[in-house]
Amino acid sequence: MNNIKYWLKSKKKLIADFQNFVLEGENPGRSRIFIDKGADVLFVAHIDTVLKPEYIRQRRTRSGKVKRVYAHGLDDRLGCMVAYELSERLNADLLICDNEESRKSTGQYHDLKDYNWIAEFDRAGDDVVTYELDNKLFLTAIKNYWDVGIGPFSDISQLETTACCMNVGIGYEFAHSRDSYVDMQIMKRQIRRFVQFYQENKDIKYVQDVKSLVDDWDSLHSGQCELCGGFTNVESIFDYCICRGCFVDSFYGDIGTYDLRSSLREDAENSDFNKTTENSYIGG
Ligand SMILES: [Zn+2]
Ligand SMILES: [Zn+2]
Repeated sequence: MNNIKYWLKSKKKLIADFQNFVLEGENPGRSRIFIDKGADVLFVAHIDTVLKPEYIRQRRTRSGKVKRVYAHGLDDRLGCMVAYELSERLNADLLICDNEESRKSTGQYHDLKDYNWIAEFDRAGDDVVTYELDNKLFLTAIKNYWDVGIGPFSDISQLETTACCMNVGIGYEFAHSRDSYVDMQIMKRQIRRFVQFYQENKDIKYVQDVKSLVDDWDSLHSGQCELCGGFTNVESIFDYCICRGCFVDSFYGDIGTYDLRSSLREDAENSDFNKTTENSYIGG
């Protein structure tokens, strides 16, 4: 794992190095690097950075070992390095996305295989987050090795998959700043743990829990609207528990990004739902 400098090259040069593995290269909004090893597990990282990638300096221990490497863009070029080297060593598929920092990860355009599970390397420190893209067994397996933290977002949040996902801390700190560095001891420890986790779990299929089923159940029993959380004028329709206001919004407003809204609308369009039902809702 001594190739940090290599991974701090310009995006253009890196992409040129991997040109045989670039998908949709002509379209910057969708392009990504994918190395297919015919594996059941996928490793993910992102090539875009907030500051221009640049190596700054190293700090060594008294015995001369590299303790910290200071560099701009370790988020997520360090992740690219770790994901790439681990995919070579463990024979996992590799997906390097772009535009993660603007929350438009090009991973969302990748047609994913049916993986056993997916690991991203895009996190500071030494914990793991799953963004609820998990199930009980997957979380239990992770907790044998790491603390599970909470986090807002990464490429895996935008992947079109039902496989459980994890984002592994790789020892960097101050991700987006000029002071960012990686603690080499933490990075190495995280990699060692991950290799053990991988050996133990690579053949196990972890499918995400469908969280909304649990929510549905709760809301049916609490009389709470699944969309706004309100308690007024809540009724169940097409298996959803929804208040009159949200029903009207869903049916006549923008579909937006909320899955439930669009699927409610689809169900309504596919059913023999008719004006009478519609009016009974609107008219109250
Ligand atoms: Zn990142
Ligand atoms: Zn970031």
